[in-house]
Amino acid sequence: MSRWPIGVFTSVDAGLGVHLDVARELEIPSVQVHAPHQQTRTPQMAEQFLANCADAGITVTCVFGGFEGESYADIATTARTVGLVPEAVRAARLQEMKEISDFTRLLGCDAVGLHIGFVPEDRSSASYQSLLDVTRDLLDHADRNDQFVHLETGQETADHLLEFISDVGRDNLRINFDPANMILYGTGDPIEALRKVGHLVRSVHCKDGKWAPEGQRGTAWGTEVPLGAGDVGMETYLRTLAQIGYTGPLTIEREIPQDRERQKADIRTAVNLLTSLRESVLG
Ligand code: MG
Repeated sequence: MSRWPIGVFTSVDAGLGVHLDVARELEIPSVQVHAPHQQTRTPQMAEQFLANCADAGITVTCVFGGFEGESYADIATTARTVGLVPEAVRAARLQEMKEISDFTRLLGCDAVGLHIGFVPEDRSSASYQSLLDVTRDLLDHADRNDQFVHLETGQETADHLLEFISDVGRDNLRINFDPANMILYGTGDPIEALRKVGHLVRSVHCKDGKWAPEGQRGTAWGTEVPLGAGDVGMETYLRTLAQIGYTGPLTIEREIPQDRERQKADIRTAVNLLTSLRESVLG
């Protein structure tokens, strides 16, 4: 693929992405996919999905894991329920991520992504140490499938994410950088964060957001908005991606599945914005 192909986050039957037909209609050449539910994660489904992609000229660039029981209702609920961090479900979700890695292999894709959850701040705590073990276990499984694991950003500061990745100590652990999440979760300036973690970024989301009011950042959600309408600064974002040497897809994420028509319209606008910014940034 050429440098910075446009992409879009899609769903088969789980997650907040658009269906593949939207990517086809908008002639978007690459997709990330939210892993389907366990019962549809079959070789037949993989084969059918790949055939549909081939038919539309679409490449699958990353498969994202998600789990039953996760809720993004508010930041506190997200911290309690999301990813491999919640201890009561850690072992079961590790097993499920391994199955998602196997399904990803069926899709011929070399990257699985996830929100790992709010990584505990105390690096000497038992919970942090056990999360390191679980993450290494997943990475070793992914490595046997010739895959990288991409951690979605937002739930930690850039500095803590770097500490965690260094503590895990595996070469196939990388970052899916989402600038809007840094704003929505209130975890730091996205451009500054991207400069810090840039050497580990292997995929990105193009998503925009507005900060929560001063004094509420980190406890109340910011607001996700159409690309270009938020506080990320899309031109600066793309210029920074060029500076860090990123060449992968620009995957649009618009998380309003309750309004499919508006979701599609916003994605169309985002494609146009990214196409014109790409031209001016890359020349
Ligand atoms: Mg994202």
